[in-house]
Amino acid sequence: MQGVVYVNGTITSADAAVVPVFDHGFLYGEGIYETLRTYGRVPFLFSEHMARLRRSAELIALPVPFTDAELRAEIDRTCAACEVADTDDLYIRMLLTRGVGDLTYNLGATPVPSLIIIVKPLKPFPERNYTEGIRVALVDVRRNHTSALNPTIKSNNLLNNALAMQEAYRRGADEALMLNQAGQVTECSQSNVFIVKDGALATPPLSAGLLPGITRQFVLDLAWKIGVPASERQLSAKDVAESDEVFITGTTREITPVTRIDDAPVGRDTPGPVTLQLMAAFRAKT
Ligand code: PMP
Repeated sequence: MQGVVYVNGTITSADAAVVPVFDHGFLYGEGIYETLRTYGRVPFLFSEHMARLRRSAELIALPVPFTDAELRAEIDRTCAACEVADTDDLYIRMLLTRGVGDLTYNLGATPVPSLIIIVKPLKPFPERNYTEGIRVALVDVRRNHTSALNPTIKSNNLLNNALAMQEAYRRGADEALMLNQAGQVTECSQSNVFIVKDGALATPPLSAGLLPGITRQFVLDLAWKIGVPASERQLSAKDVAESDEVFITGTTREITPVTRIDDAPVGRDTPGPVTLQLMAAFRAKT
């Protein structure tokens, strides 16, 4: 394994990093996380990621006993310990778990959260993902219901996403597109989804049950800045199938065009003009 890991103040190589078995992050999946990346060694949209981390933590009643400046200092320290080529960008995953305690859901058992930061070289996706687009599978696994496990919580409990992605892998796809219990489009297993119809951008609203992606919001704002109308609205699988262009967004995937949904081509089966315009504007910002 490549990279370095910070565990509650101690930085080691990735292979040597350990967390205790009685950490409730391990026992119960009780924890939240953020994935960041650097451009030119600077973490991109750091404040936005920290704001979402705090929101996620609040939704599971997890204290964050650090200021943003303290978290930034620990990220910077961990990044500095990661030996990589000057030209490489870094992948940063920050996890905050319930911490170590007895086998009980009683919060009194775990007064001190565990902070973990994984830093490794960012492995770029193949260039053809951006030039030709990727294939997405519309999977049978439904996104967690908002009143069961709210997808706005960026939780370490990723079984819903993992099961969706397993189905996508079996179907030879690069991402899994998920519907909610009502059959509306939500998001993908590791990214948000956008469509382009008649020159306008649309993405499902947070009420459909999805993660408020940092890149999703950045792209919504960017679209308006470059004169592309953009809205949040309910989308059906049919809306996606009949759209002119589709793309996904995420911290590591940036804007990636989708040119196939299962066996059906999207639009003209090649990254469309609005997607390409947004990709260029995005690159200019990073
Ligand atoms: N949805 C899910 C389920 C994700 O895991 C991710 C990746 N963190 C995203 C959307 C994209 O979010 P962001 O743009 O903040 O990386």
